[in-house]
Amino acid sequence: MLDVGRHPKINLMAYSEIENIEGQAGSFQVKIRRKARYVEEDKCTGCGACREKCPTIVPDAFNLGLGTRQAIYSYFAQGIPSTYTIDPDYCRQLKGKKCGICAKICQADAINFDQQDRIVEFEVAAIIIAVGYDIFDPSPIKEYRYSEIANVVTAFELERLSSASGPTHGHLERPSDLAVKAEIATLAKKAEKSLRTLEKIEKKFGEASPQFYEKYQRGQYPDDEDRKKWAEKYTAHLAVMEPLEALQKQAEGFTVAKRLAFVQCVGSRDLRFYPFCSGYCCMHSIKEAIIAHEHEPETTSTIFGMDIRAVGKGFEEYKLRGGNTSRITYVRGRVAEITEGPNQNPVVTYEDTRERKIKSQEFDIVSLATACKPSKSIIGLSKLLGFELDEYNFVKTSPVSPVDTSVPGVFVCSCAGVPTDVPVAVAQASSAAGRAAGIVFKLYSEKEQAVA
Ligand code: SF4
Ligand code: SF4
Repeated sequence: MLDVGRHPKINLMAYSEIENIEGQAGSFQVKIRRKARYVEEDKCTGCGACREKCPTIVPDAFNLGLGTRQAIYSYFAQGIPSTYTIDPDYCRQLKGKKCGICAKICQADAINFDQQDRIVEFEVAAIIIAVGYDIFDPSPIKEYRYSEIANVVTAFELERLSSASGPTHGHLERPSDLAVKAEIATLAKKAEKSLRTLEKIEKKFGEASPQFYEKYQRGQYPDDEDRKKWAEKYTAHLAVMEPLEALQKQAEGFTVAKRLAFVQCVGSRDLRFYPFCSGYCCMHSIKEAIIAHEHEPETTSTIFGMDIRAVGKGFEEYKLRGGNTSRITYVRGRVAEITEGPNQNPVVTYEDTRERKIKSQEFDIVSLATACKPSKSIIGLSKLLGFELDEYNFVKTSPVSPVDTSVPGVFVCSCAGVPTDVPVAVAQASSAAGRAAGIVFKLYSEKEQAVA
């Protein structure tokens, strides 16, 4: 990725959107909206000093809302370019309030609250569609209760929870425990504030709040307005401290999740949603289970699937290694239902088709291997460029030319065309780049011939 950022022949336009495309193979006129970052790209060094001081904390979309970030942020740690961006939906200054702390902190003078979107236009000979895919929202599968049970997560959420750059720095904490910790942090902040106020009052009257309150309750200060206010502030403080202490006690028992379940084909191979296989999810679940075991050797994982599709060189061996060395159990059977058991633990009810028995098992976290669905952006692009989509809205290709779309000069790779894993996506990207380079080469040859 770094090489792409530095390459003199690659013009990287992150944080941009296609506005319009016209033309044909050999000469497409492309109009791009370069969205305002409110940070000058050529000045920002990516030092992060602004982020450290920004007071506005918002949900972090990259971590799927499981963590937080500041209103000035870089989308993810290794992102290229490393330029920071101000989120106009949350930034106090851009919302018309007073702040501007980042501008004062930035030594590079990179903050520009007046920056506007820019439209840039250029000509290209070929286009490669590589828009990726969207994640299927499993909420409509009522029996899995994704939106009701905190510790039922999507595979993508589990990935962020077990990532060293994720909200828990790779410690697999249960989302319900994270919610308690977030509540503790909020209450602790309130308690700190009310304590500061009480300290000032105590100093003024030369007495500690508990002793004063005892006397106040006995009716010692019937008409004293100041002391009445003090009593109100003290009771408000107690109202924060009581739940805070209860939650802190509860959090003492929190440990990392050690019993994991992976439910395969959630939305895929399901005639109610997407009948096709999403291709990468079986190996992804195995990989996550192996990583979880590497982090915490006591971790056990159970992968529930109709079958495990380990299709690729070395994939079957990887699957078996997971079973032999990473405490993974493979259960052939579709999960019928997930309910919530004691301590907010999800309970999986399934049919073990090998034993022909209905069973239930309790876990710390259940991960749903959700379907790969076509990217929303593909519809707009297909209208602009005129390429055909298949019945599910993936880009239509031919089995004999899998990176060619129905429009000459427009190519496709990875999950924009078909659900696929990383190695195949990389191979397809190389193939599409080769096909696009063929058009450019032909163009140059023709130009050279014309000159000759
Ligand atoms: S905007 Fe300024 S302070 Fe923030 S990362 Fe860029 S150079 Fe550093
Ligand atoms: S101006 Fe906006 S981005 Fe900068 S510190 Fe304030 S809230 Fe954060």
